[in-house]
Amino acid sequence: MSVPYGLAALPIRSELRGRTPYGAPQLDVAVRLNTNENSWPLPAGLAEAIAEAVGAVAGGLNRYPDRDAIALRTDLAGYLGGELGVAQLWAANGSNEILQQLLQAFGGSGRSALGFTPSYSMHPLISLSTSTTWHDGPREADFGIDPARAACAVREHRPDVVFVTSPNNPTGTAVSLETIEAVYAEAAGMVIVDEAYAEFARPGTPSALTLLPGRERLVVTRTMSKAFGMAGLRLGYLAAAPAVVDALQLVRLPYHLSALTQVVARVALGYRDQLLATVASVCDQRDRIVAAAPHFGLNAVPSDANFVLLGGFWNSREAWQALLDRGVLVRDVGIPGYLRITAGTPAETDALLDGLEGVTRARSAHRSG
Ligand SMILES: *Cc1c(COP(=O)(O)O)cnc(C)c1O
Repeated sequence: MSVPYGLAALPIRSELRGRTPYGAPQLDVAVRLNTNENSWPLPAGLAEAIAEAVGAVAGGLNRYPDRDAIALRTDLAGYLGGELGVAQLWAANGSNEILQQLLQAFGGSGRSALGFTPSYSMHPLISLSTSTTWHDGPREADFGIDPARAACAVREHRPDVVFVTSPNNPTGTAVSLETIEAVYAEAAGMVIVDEAYAEFARPGTPSALTLLPGRERLVVTRTMSKAFGMAGLRLGYLAAAPAVVDALQLVRLPYHLSALTQVVARVALGYRDQLLATVASVCDQRDRIVAAAPHFGLNAVPSDANFVLLGGFWNSREAWQALLDRGVLVRDVGIPGYLRITAGTPAETDALLDGLEGVTRARSAHRSG
């Protein structure tokens, strides 16, 4: 009999036993298109402005930061615009921490969450770690969400929290406001619209921010990790009714946002025009990948995000490895026959298309040989 050691020997919670941590491989490859970061370098002057701002607060690090991050939340409200004020904004270390706080406040033991899969894998994982039961909701063959079927799933499972990711990761699919309204009308619990990719949506794709007035259980989450190109900063935020922000203040750790994070996020928001100037170019590369897909015998799911879900691969794992062998790292999201590919710079798209050409040609030569 083997003696348990390491993790297996610890009295860990049973639902965590045998689990592997979330994590895309962080490999040192020239072309990294696997985590939906913004590949463009930061705008001129931003690094210097950050260094200066950090220098200015460094002397005060003997004191705790502003626990409520009022100045940052005010700036975030200014970025989102409209009628939103500081009382309706909340910020944390990445939108993942925002989601965790939401589940700590509104999920938990004896409660459940529902999301429309395939979607962001962290939604079920954070549910698990907060002892919230998970339910899969339905998507259609084109990865869209049908409002009537979605409402039906909510009626059946009575979740305390519903996740709607729009545009969806890993499919890129935007969700109509009609669908969100139908889900909200049926749900008794919180409805969280994860808009991590909102800035990349094609013109005419409305944000759920427009639905907030009069809907106290609706939450819209955003992040600076994607369009803002600030994944390393760890800054996510939400907009919701002030009562939702009050609820999160019951579960957040005191001083969860460091003084450094707060000041750097504010400097980055001041550079938003320069930072977001890359969005149009990233969308061009996305559309280039979509247009090229049929050339390789592949099909692209229409995308409103900074990535494309490509289908038609003979085997996701083998195609992923074959692309990696050609120096292009993409994401195997566990949907058979599909790979998710981040849109980056024109040079990265060139390398990707070369890689796809080589991989699909080698495959068909192999098959006919
Ligand atoms: C990338 C991503 C996030 C962002 O997480 P951060 O913690 O803000 O970096 C949130 N939701 C979805 C759907 C994502 O794809």
